[in-house]
Amino acid sequence: MFDDSIADAICVIAKDFHQRGWMSGTAGNLSARQTNDAMWITASGKSKGNLTANDLLKLKINNGEVIEHNLTMNSPSAETEIHQAIYQSFSTAKACFHIHSIDACLATRLHADETHLVLPDLEMIKGFEIWEQSPKVLLPVFRNHLDVSQIAADIRRQFSQLQPDITALMIRDHGITVWGNSIEQTYNRVEILEFLLSFLARTPQKSQS
Ligand SMILES: [Zn+2]
Repeated sequence: MFDDSIADAICVIAKDFHQRGWMSGTAGNLSARQTNDAMWITASGKSKGNLTANDLLKLKINNGEVIEHNLTMNSPSAETEIHQAIYQSFSTAKACFHIHSIDACLATRLHADETHLVLPDLEMIKGFEIWEQSPKVLLPVFRNHLDVSQIAADIRRQFSQLQPDITALMIRDHGITVWGNSIEQTYNRVEILEFLLSFLARTPQKSQS
């Protein structure tokens, strides 16, 4: 059954992110979990500034099979497997947003090692429910692969062994993926992570140790 509230919220957020330069071209993809086994995700190859509810498809989380779509020419995002990996790894995840931003790529190039990036301990980190004085919060950094299945496999493998500090990850030279227990929380956390990464992108390399 088509869920108007989910579809409308995703379309509004896609337009917002597109206007901020986080979903340029047709890049990035947004999804929301409807049930344990099903999610809505944006269609492949669409400008994120002009989505309508018809540009979302409902898929099975376990195998990516399309359950419902309003336009038969639409196909699911090419990066659907990243979303499947997140929902399968985190049962409480209700939404998952994947965007491509310049600052996230720059911050990673400047400040990440092979596997992670230390986020700046700014006040904004509290948006991830980190309530410590001067916390050291790690953002997992994954290798980018042409084959999205490989990225998804890396995510599944790592999170089956190690829980991340925050509900987010970075794919090097690609973009961030953020999840949360609601569409609203996930939206807020994308903004917060982008704030932190924008700060890092403007921080000279030598100031990090
Ligand atoms: Zn991507």
